[in-house]
Amino acid sequence: MDNDRLRAMYQEMILEHNKSPRNFGPLEGHTHYGHGKNPLCGDDYEFYLEVKNDVIERVGFTGDGCAISKSSASMLTTMVKGKSIEDARKLSETFLEFILNEGPKESLGKLKIFEGVKQFPVRVKCATLSWRALEQALLKTKHIASTEA
Ligand code: ZN
Repeated sequence: MDNDRLRAMYQEMILEHNKSPRNFGPLEGHTHYGHGKNPLCGDDYEFYLEVKNDVIERVGFTGDGCAISKSSASMLTTMVKGKSIEDARKLSETFLEFILNEGPKESLGKLKIFEGVKQFPVRVKCATLSWRALEQALLKTKHIASTEA
């Protein structure tokens, strides 16, 4: 795909998820919880997971921030739902490797569209915040995931 088409797709998808975020709202009876903050941009999200037999059965998120952070959070919820904890962790690692370094993108599906943020260090934080919060949730730590830590 050429760069112009990728950029157009990226913007369209970001705007669409920002306007109608998936799985938005708190989750009663969650077993895992993660909180992520990006003080540079003001993005602040909380994630709720219901895990049964090591599978993420339900997921929800609340909070607010810029369009990139919100669409990233929304896409995260759609992609980890139904995955085992191990597979969700692997996806998170692969995504962070792709955005922060030169990791491969073949297995990332629609998350590839975030390639556009790689040129903008400030935007990288917006795009990765929710994945950092997910990792904290899966590890069951009480840490708030911060892009500035
Ligand atoms: Zn942001």
